[in-house]
Amino acid sequence: MAKKTNFLKRFEAWATDLKRNLFLRARLRLTLFYTGLIIIVLTIFSLSLYISFLRNIKNDIEKDFPNPRQEQLIVNRSTGRLAELILFIDGGIILFVGFFGFFLTKETLEPIQQTLEAQKKFAADAAHELRTPLAVIKTDLEIFLRTTHKETPERKIMASNLEEVNRMSRIVNNLLSLVRLESNQENFRFSRINLSQLTDQTLKNISSYALNKKIKIKKQFEPDLYVLADQTKLEETILNLLKNAVDYSEDNGLIEVELKKTKNKAELSIRDYGIGISDQDLPHIFERFFRADNARQNKKAGSGLGLAIVREIVRKHRGQIQIESKLNQGAIVIITLPLFSS
Ligand code: ADP
Repeated sequence: MAKKTNFLKRFEAWATDLKRNLFLRARLRLTLFYTGLIIIVLTIFSLSLYISFLRNIKNDIEKDFPNPRQEQLIVNRSTGRLAELILFIDGGIILFVGFFGFFLTKETLEPIQQTLEAQKKFAADAAHELRTPLAVIKTDLEIFLRTTHKETPERKIMASNLEEVNRMSRIVNNLLSLVRLESNQENFRFSRINLSQLTDQTLKNISSYALNKKIKIKKQFEPDLYVLADQTKLEETILNLLKNAVDYSEDNGLIEVELKKTKNKAELSIRDYGIGISDQDLPHIFERFFRADNARQNKKAGSGLGLAIVREIVRKHRGQIQIESKLNQGAIVIITLPLFSS
């Protein structure tokens, strides 16, 4: 029994890895496609061969054997042998194409994968290289603003420059963490985390930010739900979602945060009643740098990287994230994470 559970667990882990390994999935899909194509061609070819053989043998035998019973016996025997041979050869070809196709797909897809890796490396290197000059400009601007108190036009320009530099630093840092997450370079330190406490703490951390817009936060938590998680990353995820809920809500709005247990999962939902997302924009919401039209029109600041990062972090925790929304009616983000028992 223990052996079986172990096997099931290993199978489940393998299936999950497969689900996340895009390259392997693409190879399997392509192999299935090749094999499917060969099966169709072989079926048409084999059926044509079989039917034409059957017709010819019947014609030939009718001439030589006037006895219909004898004729039927010979036809059955010959066609039976032919069917066996066809099945044997077809089976062999299909197996060969399946195996060979799987290796062929590696040759086909490897250059694409290498290009993608190179792109990610370029983004990571660029972000990394930009961090130092940005930090230098930021420090210089801060020193200037701290030492110059007179409200001159130059000071105003420098203050606005500092805001832009800060925004750029945030984008660069987010880009770097996203690329690191996507290429598995980010270190995760997993431990048993009390999700109920962590969510509560994160709510406290965001409360003054919400208060600026006089937004009320209502919470409903099931206590002591434990998950296996990297505390910092999970906190960053929850904070990001709460910040979005505040940013995309109007003043005096309401945010509802609920944490509950469903089967063997912890389900955290964050609902707001803000500007919402249109049906056209909703499918793109996790894409990098994507910002919904509604957010742009309402002049909400943001870079469109937060949700892409959040999704990667949730995936690394073997969890799921989904967003439901209607334009001008708000949005609900639901995260589910496997509960950690014992
Ligand atoms: P950012 O908020 O920095 O632009 P995100 O990746 O967090 O980046 O979000 C991407 C886009 O999704 C946002 O620009 C916004 O258009 C939309 N969005 C995210 N959360 C919400 C929300 N709670 N309500 C409405 N729109 C949202």
